[in-house]
Amino acid sequence: MSESNNSRRRFIKIAVLGAATAPIVGGLAMQPAAANLPLLSVDDPTAKALGYVEDTSKVDAAKFPSHKADQNCTNCNLHQPPQADGNLPCSIFPGKAVHPKGWCAAWVKKP
Ligand code: SF4
Repeated sequence: MSESNNSRRRFIKIAVLGAATAPIVGGLAMQPAAANLPLLSVDDPTAKALGYVEDTSKVDAAKFPSHKADQNCTNCNLHQPPQADGNLPCSIFPGKAVHPKGWCAAWVKKP
């Protein structure tokens, strides 16, 4: 087999692979960015029940004596990766995001 046949075969393989993957790559590029979930309100009934605050330094120590100053949503194991706006979707509050400096009584140390 000649060198030009090998080159032609290689070119065809690359062209076919490129044609096959272009719609996939193009489709991914066209995906809209995921919308940010709305920030959880401190007035939400579940948030109130769990003592959720947007700033862990504002936790009522009398109500939550086990709270420690270094506990916050960022180092809690129950949040998902941060959204574009920096807030954290939380599995305790489906459909809502919490403030990274927040805290609630469901806090679980990230391993
Ligand atoms: S469960 Fe964790 S991430 Fe969710 S609000 Fe409570 S402390 Fe924050």
